[in-house]
Amino acid sequence: MANMQLVFLGTSSAAPTIERGLSSIALMRGSELFLFDAGEGMQRNFIKAGLGMNRKMKIFISHMHADHCVGLLGLLQTMALQEREKSIDVYGEPRVKEFLEENMRIINFGLTFDVHVHTVEKEGIVLKEEEYQVTCCQALHSIQSLAYCLEEFDRPGAFDVKEAKKLGIPESELYSKLQHGHDIVYEGRKIRSSQVVGPPRKGRKIGISGDTRPTEKLAKFFSGCDVLVFESTYSQDKQQKAIENWHSTATEAATIARKAGVGRLFLTHFSARYDEISMLVKEASAIHPSVEAAEDLKTVEVPYA
Ligand SMILES: [Zn+2]
Repeated sequence: MANMQLVFLGTSSAAPTIERGLSSIALMRGSELFLFDAGEGMQRNFIKAGLGMNRKMKIFISHMHADHCVGLLGLLQTMALQEREKSIDVYGEPRVKEFLEENMRIINFGLTFDVHVHTVEKEGIVLKEEEYQVTCCQALHSIQSLAYCLEEFDRPGAFDVKEAKKLGIPESELYSKLQHGHDIVYEGRKIRSSQVVGPPRKGRKIGISGDTRPTEKLAKFFSGCDVLVFESTYSQDKQQKAIENWHSTATEAATIARKAGVGRLFLTHFSARYDEISMLVKEASAIHPSVEAAEDLKTVEVPYA
């Protein structure tokens, strides 16, 4: 069991506004932090959100536009000033490595921790841990851009201790065997795992679009997401602009979310032209039943289904 929370650190597109910083999304899972993009200045909201400077952390960069990656430098520098010790893993296309190495050489801010930059060469699994994996898919933007999903593996079903005791099985490593799906023989009797263990409990799936036009491929990639954060730079009346600039409208975001059977949709990456984004939520809500606008420092609990 791990608590999960999404914290929006920056929700504006290309330029910041008084209310909104540049793109960055934090996902806390238990004590581990996942950061998706780091637009310039995101570290102020990172500090305000109390995410902690020395936490186990992985960073994923969607693409090399300044409003999605420049903040990485300041964040790493501040972490070094705070004497962070834990290493950080950064994932992204080959230029993320180049960008970090070049800047760290020129600025030379003397890190107190290791930064491992992993180049994402192909779609599919980016990394796999015991309880979850992170996958990526090519988005459709003016430059190479990646969408990401964090998917938890299903957990074994709940163990019914009462039933196990009723069957006369003593508390022992036999419980663990049964819990992990193995049938056992106890005092000559066969006990099936399914007699004492409930159905598998579904893991959660969180999708992050980065910058993109809507595509069929992304609809498949985000299939079944409990939570999808999708860029919604424009309203539908500006669709032509969205096409020209390789972004999406609120209507397009909601259409993808509906196709993908997403539970909750969060719109983000709003053009600075919108003071009021309720109209974007409204148009998306006509298509998808659960739409909310991301706001800087908004925190969203992501419970198990
Ligand atoms: Zn972009």
